[in-house]
Amino acid sequence: MKIKNEQLELVKKSLKAAVSHKGNLYEKKYADIDIDAITADSFCELPFTEKSELREGYPLGVQAVDDEKIVRIHSSSGTTGTPIIIPYTQKDVDDWAEMFSRCYSMAGITNKDRIHITPGYGLWTAGIGFQLGCERLGAMAIPMGPGNTDKQLKMMIDLESTVLCATSSYALLLAEEIAKRGIRDKIKLKKGVIGSERWGDKMRMRIADELGVELYDIYGLTEIYGPGIGINCAADAPMHYWDDYIFLEIIDPKTGKNVEDGQIGEIVITTLKKEGAPLIRYRTHDLSRIVPEKCPCGCKFPRIDRIIGRSDDMIKVKGVNIYPGQIEDVLKNIDGVSSEYQVMIDHLDGKDIMTLFFERTPDCVKEEVERAVGEQFKSKVGLKIVPKSVTIGELPRSEKKTTRIFDNRY
Ligand code: ZN
Repeated sequence: MKIKNEQLELVKKSLKAAVSHKGNLYEKKYADIDIDAITADSFCELPFTEKSELREGYPLGVQAVDDEKIVRIHSSSGTTGTPIIIPYTQKDVDDWAEMFSRCYSMAGITNKDRIHITPGYGLWTAGIGFQLGCERLGAMAIPMGPGNTDKQLKMMIDLESTVLCATSSYALLLAEEIAKRGIRDKIKLKKGVIGSERWGDKMRMRIADELGVELYDIYGLTEIYGPGIGINCAADAPMHYWDDYIFLEIIDPKTGKNVEDGQIGEIVITTLKKEGAPLIRYRTHDLSRIVPEKCPCGCKFPRIDRIIGRSDDMIKVKGVNIYPGQIEDVLKNIDGVSSEYQVMIDHLDGKDIMTLFFERTPDCVKEEVERAVGEQFKSKVGLKIVPKSVTIGELPRSEKKTTRIFDNRY
C-alpha cells in the first residue's frame, strides 16, 4: 500500500518540526534528507527507525518539541535493561483518546457501558489508554489494574461491569476463576477487549465460552501512542486501523522491501500527527498482513490481520518466509499429529532442505500422516519439506521456551 498524498504531507510537516528541534535523534538522523523532495514513491526509501535507536536516546533523545509542550511520558519496559521513554504533548494524549474511543465504538461499546480495566496503570501505556478512551466515549471506567482476583470479581458483580479489558492470559485466569466459583450467572459481561498479542484459537474459545462474551483484539505499542491504534469489528477477525493517524506498511523482515498487499511480513508504522515523538517507518517486529478485501461491515478504514508472531522468529528457506505460528497452523489441522514439533534446516548440495519432525499419535499410520503433513505444508506454505514423524515423547520438552527451529546452514 503506497502512502497517500495527504498522509505524506502530514509526515513532511511533522518531520520538519522534529528536525528543527536541536540535539535530538531527528536532527542527526535526517540531516542529509531533503524533506520537501520526498515523494510517495521515494517514501519507502527513507531509513527505518529501530527500537535500539530509541533506547540509545534514553532518556529524552526522541523529544521533538520544547519542554513546555510535554505533558507526560510513558515507557516501555524492554527486556534488555534500558527502557524507552516516549514524551507526549497534550495533542498526542487527545489524539490517543480519540483513537481509543473509536476502538470501543468499533466494538459496539457505548457510553452506557461499564468498562472494567485490568491492565496496569503507570509508566506502561496500557491501563491509562483504556481509561482515556473510556472517558472520551463517556462510558463508566472501573480502573482496577491487575491482580487481587477476589476484589476484581466483587467489583465486577456489584458494579455490573459489561466490558472486560485485559491481556489474554488475565482474561483466561478470570474466566477460570468465575467457572470455579460458579458465579457465571452473576456476571454481566458482554464483551472483552483483549490486548493483541499472538494467542491461540483454543484460548480464545475458552475465554469467550466461559465468560459468555464477544472478544475483540485491540492493537498498539507504547512507541506509537499505546494500545488503541486498531481493533477488529463485529463482522470479521482482521483489525481496522486508523489511517488518518498512522501509515502502515508491511515489509519483508529479511530484505526490508515492501511486500505485496495480502502477503505476510513485519508491520512498519509511521505516525502522521504525533508531536512529542513522531516516528518514521518504525519497525514493530510484529508479523501480520494487509487484508485487501473490503470488510463486510462497510467501514472504510483499512485492515491488518491478527498478529501472528514476531519477525525475530522468522526463517527464510528457499526464498519462502516461515514463522513458527504457520507451522503450528498446518500441524493442528492434521489428524494423527500431536502438538510437539522440531524443524531442522540444512544446506546440502547447493540447496536448502527443511526437515520437519513431529510426534504422531499411536492410532495412525506413519507413512500416511507423513504424506499428509508434506502435502499440507506444500499447499499452505508453498514449500516442499521432508516430513518425519516420531512417537509421542521422542521430541525434547523444556519447562522454559522450547527451541523448535534449528538452522544449521550458517
Ligand atoms: Zn469491519
